[in-house]
Amino acid sequence: MSDRLLSFDEVLEQFDPAFGLEVHVELNTATKMFCGCPTEFGAEPNTQTCPTCLGLPGSMPVVNGAAVESAIRIGLALNCEIAEWCRFARKNYFYPDMPKNFQTSQYDEPIAFEGFMDVEVDGETYRVGIERAHMEEDTGKSLHVGGSTGRIHGADYSLVDYNRAGIPLIEIVTKPVLGTGAKAPDVARAYVAQLRELLLGLGVSDVRMEQGSLRCDVNLSLAPRGSGSLGTRTETKNVNSLRSVERAARYEMQRHAAVLTEGRSILQETRHWHEDTGITTSGREKSDAEDYRYFPEPDLVPVAPSREWVAQLRATLPEPPHEKRARLQQAWGFSDLEMRDTVGAGALVLVEETIAAGATPQAARKWWLGELARRANETETDLAALGVTPVQVARVQALVDEGTLNDKLARQVLDGVVAGEGDPDDVVAGRGLAVVSDDGAIGVAVDHAIAANPDVAEKIRDGKVAAAGALIGAVMKEMRGQADANRVRELILEKLS
Ligand SMILES: [Zn+2]
Repeated sequence: MSDRLLSFDEVLEQFDPAFGLEVHVELNTATKMFCGCPTEFGAEPNTQTCPTCLGLPGSMPVVNGAAVESAIRIGLALNCEIAEWCRFARKNYFYPDMPKNFQTSQYDEPIAFEGFMDVEVDGETYRVGIERAHMEEDTGKSLHVGGSTGRIHGADYSLVDYNRAGIPLIEIVTKPVLGTGAKAPDVARAYVAQLRELLLGLGVSDVRMEQGSLRCDVNLSLAPRGSGSLGTRTETKNVNSLRSVERAARYEMQRHAAVLTEGRSILQETRHWHEDTGITTSGREKSDAEDYRYFPEPDLVPVAPSREWVAQLRATLPEPPHEKRARLQQAWGFSDLEMRDTVGAGALVLVEETIAAGATPQAARKWWLGELARRANETETDLAALGVTPVQVARVQALVDEGTLNDKLARQVLDGVVAGEGDPDDVVAGRGLAVVSDDGAIGVAVDHAIAANPDVAEKIRDGKVAAAGALIGAVMKEMRGQADANRVRELILEKLS
């Protein structure tokens, strides 16, 4: 049964939204958080495990120094204070994919706290407060086999893969963000997009939402308009694309409002986001922190980063995102609107890499925000998950520039790349897509078109050059789009002059 929703405008007439985001980021360290197992994605199940990450009795964890370094750099980039001394804690709960029956995390002593990130939406800047960024380890992964949904209900049996158990995670938790009104879903999305960009710039994670190396929970609540208070929140889990962050926030605003205007109250609970239907459904009632029986991890020494080390790491930070955006806008010659659209689409890094691979800024922008954005929309994925790389986009543009492809053929080449037929040159060869520039072949098609459309030919002979379009269309059709349209036009006019 689906929930009743209030229209978005009605929500805003009566309520002020507040949202918060909890983002889990898998670090790209070579080894796990507390053992030496490799972290590579996609290995055979249970081949990257050892007694420590399987939680076998007697095994002893050791903190991964590279992960602590990444955590501090993330904290600094988010304008956080870095703890002089902090500990890990055991978060106790049972889950089949968590072999120790507790997760080693940080509780009341996070490595980084009290920061902020400025987020730009439509030319306005919103400051998102960062409550904390703490270190923890990932769980394993359950695979439910049988049944149609891949969920546990209806499955014949379940398998567990512990390769992911113990991968270093940073959880970044915002403070409640108030005062964004109708922009709440957009600011939430922009925060995740810009956080992704920041983490990419730091080089600490590959932040692939579609592979789960950046995962997002969206907290949302509504309060009576103008009250300045906070309502009861729900926490929507595992929202795994930028689009979905926006959609889930919008959906929960509309659902909360419908419940509240009926005089009922919001249950504090976790919700599941359903990408396919665009709705959330009830998960479990949210446990309070005390239910986890946190206690300090006795097997690990405290983490006490020296101020000198923190200062050194601060010196390694890349330029802040807003400075970088200003520099790139200048270098690329983008208008404010073009830059805003590029950032808003989460395409800044893709455009940057496409330019680095040889495309002009305008060509890079045109592909990512035009044809590729359209495809991403149609398939409801993010640009980065389309399966086309910046290098491939730059190559397609190079083939257009050198006259091998026209725009129509270039789009077919992208079809091939998306379909897994290889790089652009492979697709051109495999599908025989290159533009025909041989005048002989084009000339034959022009003769056919003139013969089949004598009335049009007559008009052109009489000087009505605009009529040539119909003949060009006929020639392109006969040549399956593989002719240079300008050359076709020249030949038609030559033959009819
Ligand atoms: Zn291990």
